[in-house]
Amino acid sequence: MSLITENLQVVRQKIQRFSHSAGRDVATIELLAVSKTFSAPSVIEAVQAGQRSFGENYLQEAVAKISEVAHLLDRNQQSCHLYWHFIGPIQSNKTRPIAENFSWVHSVDRLKIAERLSQQRPSELAPLNVCVQVNVSGELSKSGVAPDDVLELMLAIEGLQGLRLRGLMCVPEASKDVTEQKAAFARMRHLFEQCKLKIPTLDTLSMGMSDDMEAAITEGSTMLRIGSAIFGKRDYAN
Ligand SMILES: *Cc1c(COP(=O)(O)O)cnc(C)c1O
Repeated sequence: MSLITENLQVVRQKIQRFSHSAGRDVATIELLAVSKTFSAPSVIEAVQAGQRSFGENYLQEAVAKISEVAHLLDRNQQSCHLYWHFIGPIQSNKTRPIAENFSWVHSVDRLKIAERLSQQRPSELAPLNVCVQVNVSGELSKSGVAPDDVLELMLAIEGLQGLRLRGLMCVPEASKDVTEQKAAFARMRHLFEQCKLKIPTLDTLSMGMSDDMEAAITEGSTMLRIGSAIFGKRDYAN
């Protein structure tokens, strides 16, 4: 068995165990495999192990990988639909390739970006699923909307034709302390519930990475973004 296949099994077992302890139905938690810095053949290995949703941060790398993966699947005469999620920072002059190549964007943090994505979404594709990124730890350097401004932005995005507003995403300040991890995720859960009172169709709380997945599951994550626990340690030199 390949290492990626084995890692995916371990991650899936953990999700099962943590959701059981949290009294949650495991079917309400989706696993997004974050493949940034990893090659198309690594993605193919994860596909062979049943993974269908992949997350990418860097646009150029992602666009090349998406077509290479499609080409490899074609050559293996495998036709399975993959869902590509853009989870990295977005420059407003780079929205078109995002609108054209992805199924989801997790990192929308201003209206201008949402409007451009909506306009540029090709009409033959389903609306682009979007989450608003929240700066939940209040770090100056982090992207994301301040919690107090989230609802206003969500209400403005809700009316955009080319988009389907799904929920919230965060990357909290890294902490090894589970209590601290849970506190940030609990703030997200609370914010998500407040937004749902106004926009009942919201269904996605994108939070939890390799080192804080247990805390995220306990606090209600519906989509985990897991990279290194599946693909191994990243080497940014590649
Ligand atoms: C890299 C990245 C992840 C995955 O992180 P791991 O610690 O490798 O699981 C998740 N979300 C975002 C936004 C990332 O940039």
